[in-house]
Amino acid sequence: MHEAGIAQSILDIAVNTAKNNSAGRITLVAVRIGKMSAVDEASLRFAFDALKAGTIAENAAFDYTEVPLRGKCLDCGAEKEFEGYFMNCPGCGSSKVSLISGSELEVSHIEVE
Ligand SMILES: [Zn+2]
Repeated sequence: MHEAGIAQSILDIAVNTAKNNSAGRITLVAVRIGKMSAVDEASLRFAFDALKAGTIAENAAFDYTEVPLRGKCLDCGAEKEFEGYFMNCPGCGSSKVSLISGSELEVSHIEVE
């Protein structure tokens, strides 16, 4: 379950950011996770809740945003959202599609007090 490792990284980033800003408590941690990262939201939430106990993020809410897979066709220029990992352009069928978004794995912001 790689979500535990990701949750730990998210928590570390949030706690370090809060400490660098002399914040006492973290009230919200917002993350943006690309669909390509294949992260299970429920598992990530569960791991984060378990890890935050006893830290300054103990009462922090967890705001999860999934970033859809978007690609751009290098042959015809079409931009589209994709469901799967094997991307072919729906317009021309080309397999030369570059990923625009969907591989994010980041803490977008935190709220502290
Ligand atoms: Zn195309």
